[in-house]
Amino acid sequence: AQEGNVIADVRREVEEWAKNQTQEITRLKDLERYRKEFVGNVSHELKTPIFNIQGYILTLLEGGLDDPKINKLYLKRTEKSIDRMISIVEDLESITKLESGELKLRIESFDLVKMVDEVFEMEMMMANERKIQLVFERPEKPVLVRADKKRIMEVMTNLVANGIKYGKRKGFVKVSFYDLAGNVMIEVMDNGIGIEKNDLPRVFERFYRVDKSRSREQGGTGLGLSIVKHIIEAHKQTINVKSVVDEGTTFTFTLEKAK
Ligand code: ADP
Repeated sequence: AQEGNVIADVRREVEEWAKNQTQEITRLKDLERYRKEFVGNVSHELKTPIFNIQGYILTLLEGGLDDPKINKLYLKRTEKSIDRMISIVEDLESITKLESGELKLRIESFDLVKMVDEVFEMEMMMANERKIQLVFERPEKPVLVRADKKRIMEVMTNLVANGIKYGKRKGFVKVSFYDLAGNVMIEVMDNGIGIEKNDLPRVFERFYRVDKSRSREQGGTGLGLSIVKHIIEAHKQTINVKSVVDEGTTFTFTLEKAK
């Protein structure tokens, strides 16, 4: 009987070991799939501006150089494509840091009202181009929060820029603050194209873009919202999204009030 017990023990141990091995293999396979997908997505995103630049240069070399108008136009386009590559690479750096937990927050007190003013100023050109009104329900007094200023600037810029990008002509993007106990809730609302219910839970995933063709027109990496979410979660705060197709989208997140 004792021998039987020993055998049963050994069998249990072997089974346990085999189970762990299987789990480990699954984990490694998932990681490998994720890595492949990531690299695939990145190269796909980078290819577009690279091929564009190649095209512009070819046009210039094949005679465009002699025409000052074409010259300027194609150099401008080249510059835009390079800007795009820079923002892709910057997004990649951010996401890598955020996902490896390397991001160290530099918490300080700052005024959110000033920040929204700055973000609106930066996004004004894009908004004007698309005839979108930037609305700020501006509190009279400063709204002081404790957070990483640079990172929250990234969050605000991303959300406002998305509101413009996925807005409808002559629409609006509105920022409002709400007082919660100890926290401030920031709302970024637009009356743009909205997001389908099925896509909604996925918009925070890296590289996820709703309706590829339509999003593609607008340009973007599909990294913005995943970066946003990481930043808010690193602050131990939350971010939510609500959306109705054709009516608009509202993002809300919270930050700690400064005393
Ligand atoms: P992208 O670089 O594609 O803008 P994001 O991570 O910022 O990437 O957003 C992911 C996707 O979520 C976008 O491609 C778009 O389809 C959708 N999305 C984000 N913000 C909005 C919004 N305000 N209105 C409608 N759709 C949005």
